[in-house]
Amino acid sequence: MPTPIGNLSEMSRRALEILGQADIIACEDTRNSGRLLQHFGISKPLISHHEHNQETSIPKIMTFLEEGKSVAVISDAGYPLVSDPGQRLVRSCISAGIPVIPVSGPNAALDALVASGMDTRHYLFYGFLDAKSSRRTRQLETLKSFPYTIIFYEAPHRIEAMLSDLYSVFGNRNICLARELTKLHEELIRGPVKDIIPLCAQLKGEMVVVCQGAPEEENTVTLEEAAEMAGQLKAEGLSTKQAVAQTAKQLGISKNELYRFVVNKER
Ligand code: SAM
Repeated sequence: MPTPIGNLSEMSRRALEILGQADIIACEDTRNSGRLLQHFGISKPLISHHEHNQETSIPKIMTFLEEGKSVAVISDAGYPLVSDPGQRLVRSCISAGIPVIPVSGPNAALDALVASGMDTRHYLFYGFLDAKSSRRTRQLETLKSFPYTIIFYEAPHRIEAMLSDLYSVFGNRNICLARELTKLHEELIRGPVKDIIPLCAQLKGEMVVVCQGAPEEENTVTLEEAAEMAGQLKAEGLSTKQAVAQTAKQLGISKNELYRFVVNKER
């Protein structure tokens, strides 16, 4: 279940009820979650479950569950499984026929998306790109023509390098850098990525980057020009059909529309 990403008032009543009823709470960092639970007056046995101990923590949790105990799973902040551990545990539960109950709550990606001003109809949550520039660039290349909003998580010490790579691969797209969400110094910086890169050295805290999707390619070639291109192919020996098909494919335009135009012109 999710826990606050900053503002503790975002802990839901249902989440508190479930934590209060659970036999065991699995968490990433027992000290960090211990403080959170203490704040809400919850005292329960904690079991450490993080990225580097899943080999041993999952069998322990599964044993508790098979004994009929209930286990609430939390991460340091926001939703477990969302750029946080939990995926393998959920899959183990599904395989063992143990019910998995989701609880709604805070998430940095969605907070950033809704405040970004970007298109929210379709979006991709990518999470963290690779820390290494060469691999990050390759990942960005695969996303370059994705036409919808993309949400990235990034650490403050890498934000400048990450946005510079984003600019090199995507060009000067609009982004929203959402920082310290739900906290005292919450800030949303919107604009072309090139204008935001120089600000990064001064920025601290947790950050989400919401990036505009690839702009629709404007087809600036008119049917007249496309017909001329097809005409050149015909002069090289192609039939009208072949010339039209090849031109339409090359320009990414409708074959039938170009064919009608060419045939009408030839009449
Ligand atoms: N599970 C979390 C969630 O549901 O949002 C995300 C955990 S991930 C390990 C941590 C990253 O989430 C940070 O590096 C940052 O990109 C983002 N993040 C978490 N809290 C944030 C906040 N208050 N403001 C902006 N970004 C935040």
